[in-house]
Order: sequence, then structure tokens, then C-alpha cells
Amino acid sequence: MDKEIEPCPFCGSVDLDRDKWRKYIECKSCGCYGPDAIWPGTATSAWNTRALIAQEQEG
Ligand SMILES: [Zn+2]
Repeated sequence: MDKEIEPCPFCGSVDLDRDKWRKYIECKSCGCYGPDAIWPGTATSAWNTRALIAQEQEG
């Protein structure tokens, strides 16, 4: 089950995709990609965590 994905923390795009092994989320707009998931299915959580941290730092 996939969770909702936060917008890209760098460009705000929601045009996001998973790599074919679903290990990480990639932004198709700016080309950045999220942290590698340690376990299958956690790529979205890892991406969301990064997105939220980035948003907080942006203030
Ligand atoms: Zn982006």
C-alpha cells in the first residue's frame, strides 16, 4: 500500500515517480531523488520525512 507522497522539497513538483525497485522516489521535474529505503515499501516514508524536514528548514 502506497502512502500519499509529499511534493518535492526542492521544486514543489508533485510529478514524482518510483524507481523500478521502489527503493526511492524520484522527482521527474528537477531530477532529485529521495533517500534509499532500507526496506521495500518505505521509500515513500523516507521521501516524506525528507520533504517535511526541508520545508521546516525553509521556514
Ligand atoms: Zn523536484
